[in-house]
Amino acid sequence: MKTYSLYLNGEFVSSEPTIVVVNPATGESFARISTIDRTRVGQALKDAHAAFKEWRKLTGKARGDFIQKIAAELERRRDEIARLITMENGKPLAQSLGEVAMSVDHLRWFAEEARRAYGRIIPNQVDGKRHMVIKTPIGVVGAISPWNFPLVLAVRKIAPALAAGCTVVLKPARQTPLCAAAFAECVDAAKLPKGVFQLVVGSASEIGEEFLQNPLCRKISFTGSTEVGKHLIRGAAEQVKPLSLELGGLAPVLVFEDVDLNRAVEGAILAKFRNTGQSCIAANRIYVQRSIYQKFLDAFVAKAKALKLGDGLEPNVEIGALIDEDAVTKAVQHVEDAVKRGARVLCGGQRAKGRGCFFEPTVLADVPTDGLCMREETFAPVAAICPFDTEAEAIELANASDFGLSAYAFTNDLGRTFRLMEALEAGIIGINDGVPTATQAPFGGMKQSGWGRELGIEGMDAFLETKHISLGIA
Ligand code: NAP
Repeated sequence: MKTYSLYLNGEFVSSEPTIVVVNPATGESFARISTIDRTRVGQALKDAHAAFKEWRKLTGKARGDFIQKIAAELERRRDEIARLITMENGKPLAQSLGEVAMSVDHLRWFAEEARRAYGRIIPNQVDGKRHMVIKTPIGVVGAISPWNFPLVLAVRKIAPALAAGCTVVLKPARQTPLCAAAFAECVDAAKLPKGVFQLVVGSASEIGEEFLQNPLCRKISFTGSTEVGKHLIRGAAEQVKPLSLELGGLAPVLVFEDVDLNRAVEGAILAKFRNTGQSCIAANRIYVQRSIYQKFLDAFVAKAKALKLGDGLEPNVEIGALIDEDAVTKAVQHVEDAVKRGARVLCGGQRAKGRGCFFEPTVLADVPTDGLCMREETFAPVAAICPFDTEAEAIELANASDFGLSAYAFTNDLGRTFRLMEALEAGIIGINDGVPTATQAPFGGMKQSGWGRELGIEGMDAFLETKHISLGIA
């Protein structure tokens, strides 16, 4: 079994103990990765701080050239790294290839953005003064990424941080550290100066505490659960450490009667079942206007039944394995709870037979608003659907949540589109679009879905300080 190394101050480091990585589609342990303790993480931050002093001095173009080289290497190793993602995460290979392609695109965008850390000149308020704004890199960044998009969500932090002139210590999720190790190899091949990017794996709570308490770590960028996000907020208070937080979601989908039904069904299927339902922007609650409710259910169920379930490495699979047994248990609980409350199972509803963490693509109709799957992230291929009558009611249902990451609406009415854009409490809104993510557009949530935005021009700004320089000039 191959043991993957960590990447510390320009060196690949093997150390004990190791973590075993399991393929959720087969239950097989297929690789290991080294871990380090908190003291060694402190050393990594120290080395990152030393590297920061030089990295920040490079021109944006020079940093961008390094990032382009990482992108080229990642693209060259695309097939192999996509396979690794599927093996450690369970997602279908085509979606892993898409994840690598999107990571390459993010790297290229931020490589260009590196040249655009613009300041500005502000007209003076009184005679004898001039005002300038400059942007400077915030310093060493502790990045913590989740398992559901193990490569691209790490890259969403690393690429803008490096572009801004920061150095990065990445802690990937324990279940999916291998593509991060492969990414470290791409960084090494791109010959970045030592300490500019480092990979650490170990106890999440210890690494988190070191990031929080070590003053050399100047910012934490986290993607994961709201629960851990709240823990980081509490810990960051002591040093007033800045945080970017991409947390949980509970996306509503509103389907109005004026819509092109096929388009709405296609979009809702994508929003629900992409990544086997394990996406932070996954459709969790689907509300359909009563006049088209039955038609929508029929078309949606037909498409859900046709989705091919299996090991993500097999051809044409669309629904892969869930990440682990806990994820399967949660899906079972959500379905059982909905049924107890009067929902109807129109297809699926059970763990799939055989080895591995598989759950059948499931459609639940008439799910009441107090159902678990209407209140908590399901993170599984379970679509919960219920009817509504009016636009006002739909908006109220959509906003009745502590989360505000993404929302979807399907309508052909222009006036309604604008009303929804303004009223829906979500940082990302897909109108007639089931995959509302673009490298050049901001991504992030409102309410308990987080703080700040990744991607877009906002993505690099998260790693820059804004300084006002007041110049006394006669
Ligand atoms: P999680 O349990 O919060 O884990 C995320 C990361 O945090 C992992 O690397 C984990 O490490 C680490 N972690 C756990 N405890 C920690 C601690 N005490 N201090 C510091 N780090 C700690 O979340 P998950 O279950 O992997 O991910 C699913 C969640 O992420 C969902 O809620 C999803 O909506 C959210 N998500 C949000 C976005 C977004 O952009 N808003 C994107 C994707 C996912 P270990 O793996 O080693 O425990």
